[in-house]
Amino acid sequence: MKRRKFIQNTSLSSFGIVAGATVIGCKENSDTAKTSSVPKEKDTVVKTTIPIVIATWNVHDSTAKAWKVLEQGKSSLDAIEQGCMVEEANAEGQSVGIGGLPDRDGNVTLDACIMNKEGNYGAVVYMQNIKHAISVARKVMEDTPHVILAGKGAEQFAVSKGFKKENLLTDASKKAWEKWKKTSQYKPVINIENHDTIGMLAIDKNGDISGGCTTSGLSYKMAGRVGDSPIIGSGLFVDNEVGAATATGLGEEVLKTVGSFLIVELMRQGMSPQKACEEAIGRIVGKNQNYEHFQVGYIAINKKGETGAYSIHDGFYVTTYVNDKNESTKPVFFNKKG
Ligand code: ASP
Repeated sequence: MKRRKFIQNTSLSSFGIVAGATVIGCKENSDTAKTSSVPKEKDTVVKTTIPIVIATWNVHDSTAKAWKVLEQGKSSLDAIEQGCMVEEANAEGQSVGIGGLPDRDGNVTLDACIMNKEGNYGAVVYMQNIKHAISVARKVMEDTPHVILAGKGAEQFAVSKGFKKENLLTDASKKAWEKWKKTSQYKPVINIENHDTIGMLAIDKNGDISGGCTTSGLSYKMAGRVGDSPIIGSGLFVDNEVGAATATGLGEEVLKTVGSFLIVELMRQGMSPQKACEEAIGRIVGKNQNYEHFQVGYIAINKKGETGAYSIHDGFYVTTYVNDKNESTKPVFFNKKG
């Protein structure tokens, strides 16, 4: 299934997430999400092995690359960067890097962030003309005293570091934008079909966790709009003592609930990654009567390599590479009505 073609229908079925040969026990738990109360630990999540990499959507090539890096004994930070770069370089993918769908003025603008085992973080927001946003984010983290660079400043910094400027608007994305303009009349699109970001979390052979998130953001967004993906605690959070989480979907809702930080803090209190993802979705659903009209999905991993994933609607996919198996699965979801 193409990442951009998700959530046309919702079904009653739910699926366990399979990590290697291990089925992660994660029953659908809409009561938890509705009440947004802190659930009691009942579902036990089966431990996987490390190294492990987990990512939002069907991104087998990206997880395969990250796995290779982990297998070589390199750091989870290297794995995240190189894994995300694969999709950023894929011109056919219309949500990340080159080929990303533009904002409503026809400009492709990228958001990305990366976080390492020391809790250091780097991000670029609203950056144009440079496809490897994840690598520029890493340079911001490693080579500047800052954590976020935006717009022109991010682009100039990237060029100063040797990144090549190129036109990120492919013919296919330009055509899609032109088609959208005819019918949309510049109304903001808030639906459930035009989000998909790569959020990736990895644990290396040393047991150290890193994460990254890269996206062209909400398609046909207003010029200047920044989503959750590059914002620490919202689109991504990593605490090497505890675990990590990352998000995809309508960034405004993730930002308002600081979702990834929430999930990591819930795991710190002893909650499983699965329950913590359900709780974070519950916070969003509890505050939005119109949740039927947008999607948010979370994935999480804890220090032991246990994983979790949950979304508001059906159609969210997660790719996990562990125990030499690279598999996409469909997590359980909140909205069973469709
Ligand atoms: N979360 C991203 C944003 O709001 C979009 C996505 O996940 O596709 O920018």
